[in-house]
Amino acid sequence: MGYDIPAIVAETGAILLGSYIAVDGYYPRRRIRIVTHIHEDHTRGLAQSIRESDFIAATPLTLDLLEALGKRVPPAKKLEMPYGVRVRIEDDIVELRKANHIPGAAEVIVELRNGLQVGYTGDFKLPGTEILKGLDVLVIDATYGLEEHIRPWQDEMEYILSDIVREGLIHGPVHLYAYNGKVEEVMLILRRFDIDAPFIVSRRVYNTTKVLCKHGYCINDVYIARSKAAEEAQQYGYYVQFHHYSSWWSRRRQYRGTHILLTGWELREPYRQISPNEWIVSFSDHADFRQLVNYVEEAKPRLLIVDAYRGGRSAYYFASYVSKRLGIEALAMP
Ligand SMILES: [Zn+2]
Repeated sequence: MGYDIPAIVAETGAILLGSYIAVDGYYPRRRIRIVTHIHEDHTRGLAQSIRESDFIAATPLTLDLLEALGKRVPPAKKLEMPYGVRVRIEDDIVELRKANHIPGAAEVIVELRNGLQVGYTGDFKLPGTEILKGLDVLVIDATYGLEEHIRPWQDEMEYILSDIVREGLIHGPVHLYAYNGKVEEVMLILRRFDIDAPFIVSRRVYNTTKVLCKHGYCINDVYIARSKAAEEAQQYGYYVQFHHYSSWWSRRRQYRGTHILLTGWELREPYRQISPNEWIVSFSDHADFRQLVNYVEEAKPRLLIVDAYRGGRSAYYFASYVSKRLGIEALAMP
């Protein structure tokens, strides 16, 4: 496709699909900025996009979450795109599809005027993400693009994590350490597995749970840390408190109870107990290497572009693996 590749990853981290659309990064003179989900590495340059673009497009849930996080999009620039609804932008037709990553996350497909179809997965894991099949160009996220990046236990982690939390609650409070964005998903999982202990969270996480509830993902018994309601809920020592990932190193010794660090980079075992009350649990919102290969094999794009802005070294390796082993033309960008 030479120099006229209709989908690229720009130096700014923006995924450019056709001539009008920039996804997940700022790029000059793009009429539409699409936000696939609210994670920081997908919302960079949003303020500049808001100033310069005609519309900021995302799922209704993602637009509400941006608002809750203080990234305000003026109402006149909001373009709500529920999954599966086709929207015409100039001569292109754009559609979002559901990605299993965090609530509200989406993939993007654009049908260009010349008939070519291009798309971007955003961040995803399998199952639960629709595979974008038969595109001319597919841009894929490959955070875990090296062959050793496998978590054979990934499908069972929801059960395993719930069991470790349930066991911890027998002895006292449980403290979970995870990145923002992962916390909400973990709360939903624990409630689904019948963990009924009160959840203590930061104000920021509390605000996002209110938005999630408005969109059908309600989580009960959530309290803001150090509030009066939280202190009451905590008095019997039966609660789960969520902390930012970074405070695992600095703060965990301050609290009594069981401490659990959630990380996608635990690739040796599903979980490790590092002291009588400290656990490291392998938990990721991203496809591992096997899932990436499965996705590409099923999607069979004419050209695969691997996002190296977010994937780094993994992206270059994954692109060469796909061209050599799967016989699909592939390259990493930028
Ligand atoms: Zn993400």
